[in-house]
Amino acid sequence: MRRRRFWGWGFEDEGADPRALAAVEAQIGALLGRSPVRREPPVARDLALPAPRVAAPPRLAHLCTATPEERARHALGRSYKDLARAIRCRFDDAPDYVAYPETSDDVARLLEAAAAGAVAVVPFGGGTSVAGGVEPRGLGSYAGVVSLDMSKLSRLLDLDTTSLSARIEAGASGPEIEALLKPHGLTLRFYPQSFELSTLGGWIATRAGGHFATGPTHVDDLVESVRVSCPRGTIETRRLPGSGAGPAPERLFLGSEGTLGVITDAWVRVLRRPTHRAQATVSFPTFEAATTALRTVLQSGLSPSNARALDPVEAMMSGAGPAGAALLLLAFESAHHPVDGLLALALEAALSAGAGAAGPVRSTSADGGRDAAQDVYKASFLRAPYLRDELVLRGVFVETYETAVTWDRLAALDADVRAAVARLDLGPHLLACRVTHAYPNGCAPYYTLVAPAPEADLGVEMWDDVKAAVTGAIVDAGGTSTHHHAIGRDVVPWYERERPALFADAILAAKRALDPRGIMNPGVLFRAGTR
Ligand SMILES: Cc1cc2nc3c(=O)[nH]c(=O)nc-3n(C[C@H](O)[C@H](O)[C@H](O)COP(=O)(O)OP(=O)(O)OC[C@H]3O[C@@H](n4cnc5c(N)ncnc54)[C@H](O)[C@@H]3O)c2cc1C
Repeated sequence: MRRRRFWGWGFEDEGADPRALAAVEAQIGALLGRSPVRREPPVARDLALPAPRVAAPPRLAHLCTATPEERARHALGRSYKDLARAIRCRFDDAPDYVAYPETSDDVARLLEAAAAGAVAVVPFGGGTSVAGGVEPRGLGSYAGVVSLDMSKLSRLLDLDTTSLSARIEAGASGPEIEALLKPHGLTLRFYPQSFELSTLGGWIATRAGGHFATGPTHVDDLVESVRVSCPRGTIETRRLPGSGAGPAPERLFLGSEGTLGVITDAWVRVLRRPTHRAQATVSFPTFEAATTALRTVLQSGLSPSNARALDPVEAMMSGAGPAGAALLLLAFESAHHPVDGLLALALEAALSAGAGAAGPVRSTSADGGRDAAQDVYKASFLRAPYLRDELVLRGVFVETYETAVTWDRLAALDADVRAAVARLDLGPHLLACRVTHAYPNGCAPYYTLVAPAPEADLGVEMWDDVKAAVTGAIVDAGGTSTHHHAIGRDVVPWYERERPALFADAILAAKRALDPRGIMNPGVLFRAGTR
């Protein structure tokens, strides 16, 4: 069994790509005017956790552990703030014990025992939440907290190759899912950047967004039915390609973030593996010109598998194009037909719309095989979290902020976010923006902030200040408090501003029906103390 780092991303035997790290260190050195100094990561013997308040119920003890390392590994998610605390061994709200159910019956028995003992339950998939979703904080009114780790439920339960659907257990991670499907020539084709660790259940619970920028952007589009173990009992929804039979029951659990029950498995829509690919990159003098071109492509009725606009800072950081230019990346793929014609149409639309366009800067196509350039990009995209660990160790604050907004409000929102960051007086910093997902009626801008972290707390307080300033500016400008990173505990104040009050009552009533003792992930979606 490979061991997960308790203080950072990923596995202990894995790390950042040395060449990528050297390049980023040079950029950061130039920004800060000095070479960053690396601190040593913590080791398990440094851990000093508060004593557990409760022990696992004796009849389920064989599924549970309470070692300091396991409790620490389940105490925090993986936002910058989480890493900054973990590196300093601040695991103040660690769960009292961690349970590893092996079957859905185990999940039901663990929930029953927790309800009887007034123990709060925090479902844990890959623990990659960046919104405080797995952090059991503020739960002093419960007898204790169990982190319910789903990693042992990771099997392929059924496969329907006629309908192209697979029933997979919720604890399966991205690579595990692809390994289960590959022998059948199938793929889920869902690649969030946290793919290496995040799980099917976590994706469904948070309405995660994949790497592909148009079409089925969210996992929502891939879910056929779900099975959920709730404190009141189990709900299993029907497999249907579509239905008009009242509100769809499986939709209630998409985005439920562990507050209603534990998703134990789901039927998901799978695809034959694509064999035709074509992609191109176009440069523009401004970000506005690149986003106008992107909008034109999306409103033309074309649906590229990828369509991303990068502002000049993002383009510089990714090393993807000429200095000072904004970029538009377009890609198409198919399991059935060549896609070069579709790419040509999209390029025509983009070049006609975005003022001052030059390009394509680069273009590739590959039929019947993999595109090497795309493979390299995908590998570095998926390994970027290891790079982030190294930056945190070097006292570099690096965090991302995301939203979605209709096209008519994009320019104003972008200006407001940049103004909000400028007002924070962070010293030398970089603020980069790329559009990660695009729709005919709007898009999802995604900001990356890089700045020096204060030495004292490694930027924990700064994280709260920046989060409040940026998320406040986003919601004020008509954006959503999250396009795909979820609400968790950290985003509740802004979620409350966009959630209609009567809808909040309706969801709370559903929670009371499924979880009458309020043990499921308290403090997520609703403030702690709401029952
Ligand atoms: C470096 C990095 C990159 C990321 N990139 C992306 C991205 O590209 N797209 C994106 O959408 N998100 C991204 N995220 C955020 C995160 O990976 C997603 O929210 C992901 O869906 C969480 O999955 P998980 O299995 O890790 O869930 P966890 O973090 O374990 O849990 C998240 C929430 O879901 C609940 N939950 C987990 N499993 C279950 C279950 N089986 N039943 C009920 N509730 C459950 C938890 O209680 C918690 O509230 C990124 C995070 C990091 C750190």
